[in-house]
Amino acid sequence: QKVLTMLKKNLLVLLLIVALALGLGLGAGLRTREPRFSKREIMYLRFPGDILMNMLTFLIVPLVISSLVSGLASLDTRTSGRIGLRAIVYYLTTTLMAVVLGIVLTVSIQPGIRGGKSEVPTDTTSRVVNTADTFLDLIRQSFPDNLVEMCFKKPVTLQIPRNSSSDENGTLSPTTSNDKNSDAANQTIYDPLVTKVDGMNVLGMVVFSIIFGIVVGRMGDRGRPIAELFASLCEATMQLVNLVIWYSPVGIMFLISAKVVEIDDLDRTFRQLGYYFLTVMAGLALHAFVTLPLVYFLVVRRNPFRYLVRLVEPLLTALATSSSSATMPVTMRCLEENLGIDKRVVKFVIPVGATVNMDGTALYEAVAVLFIGQMRGADLNFGNIVTISLTATAAAIGAAGVPQAGLVTMVIVLSAVGFPSDDVALILAVDWLLDRFRTAVNVLGDMFGAGIVHHLSKRDLETNHDVPGGSGDSS
Ligand code: ASP
Repeated sequence: QKVLTMLKKNLLVLLLIVALALGLGLGAGLRTREPRFSKREIMYLRFPGDILMNMLTFLIVPLVISSLVSGLASLDTRTSGRIGLRAIVYYLTTTLMAVVLGIVLTVSIQPGIRGGKSEVPTDTTSRVVNTADTFLDLIRQSFPDNLVEMCFKKPVTLQIPRNSSSDENGTLSPTTSNDKNSDAANQTIYDPLVTKVDGMNVLGMVVFSIIFGIVVGRMGDRGRPIAELFASLCEATMQLVNLVIWYSPVGIMFLISAKVVEIDDLDRTFRQLGYYFLTVMAGLALHAFVTLPLVYFLVVRRNPFRYLVRLVEPLLTALATSSSSATMPVTMRCLEENLGIDKRVVKFVIPVGATVNMDGTALYEAVAVLFIGQMRGADLNFGNIVTISLTATAAAIGAAGVPQAGLVTMVIVLSAVGFPSDDVALILAVDWLLDRFRTAVNVLGDMFGAGIVHHLSKRDLETNHDVPGGSGDSS
């Protein structure tokens, strides 16, 4: 039985790696076809991938709500408080570490200066969003007014006039202040790439479920039926995850091949954004392979790389889907089954982490805004840099776990240092690719976090009275 399970686990990883390779190969092959693939043909190629995205996204609502409610209801308030506190301290510390790393790299590499000064809009007064409003929106989102509506997918749009963003070929053509005043530019034509950012109110779901779970837990015996119901719902949802996971190699292969076919010639873009791209990638790599493993080693005193190699499934899923939320079912399954992390820890750390803990996004936001500052030739003082670190952390917390959400919340950071929100257009061309890698780092941060919180909470969990859904035994 054991050998069979081992084989099964490795078989999935193997299938995922083959899928990645096949996806890249198929995409590269189909790219060379003349005439180039039309949008419709690319849509057909992506179809099996879309089905995977739908299945994973479908699981988010039942999984977030059932795991948080049953997880918290199964713990006494003291234990859940301790687990929560440890998780929050971990989230904030590592996110700040990521931001600082990003800042240090950007200041030393100076990607915005090396890439050659680009023509950037000189008018910085227009379209500066109000930071306070954005924060209020975030808090408003945390307290949804409708239980059903919070589960609906809604577009989160960032309005970028088309002529101030990348054009159809993905090349940069920043607007001049004259263009901006022209009538054509004032007719709002949204960039299709950016309007695609949509998602449900997962933050609202998380806040509601935490409070509800604690209340149910405190009701004692009277809360038992609800706790049992949610524990059973969680279990059933995880069974669905077990089914979906076996389809994921097929979906991933087509998601990747369709993207490879779709991308335009990156040559010109990379000439201008190459250094920026490399700075973000270097930061993400250092955070993933040095900072996070070091934090894990210092706390848990175990080999972090042995932990890391068992996380391949969620990491590849994150790369293919660009979404922490869609990856969440795979992450939870992997931690429980491959690493034996206590279910009660996973049920809390992952849904919350996938929503608020985004180290990759925070790092990228800081690098991007500093890069834009360098391109603009703006003189950013120490105060500005502190502002960037704090707002980048907030923007990462506020970003939903959906593709390119970080691009939308970047307006918080931009506006805090007085840059117009249109400036996101300057980095748009390579964002889809960076998004995949930063999502993988976001997911990795959550997974190291689960290992660390599990280690620190072992004693609390052992002494905690066991109520429905509370078993840490993952077998
Ligand atoms: N796509 C990222 C995620 O889901 C968020 C971002 O755009 O940075 O984690």
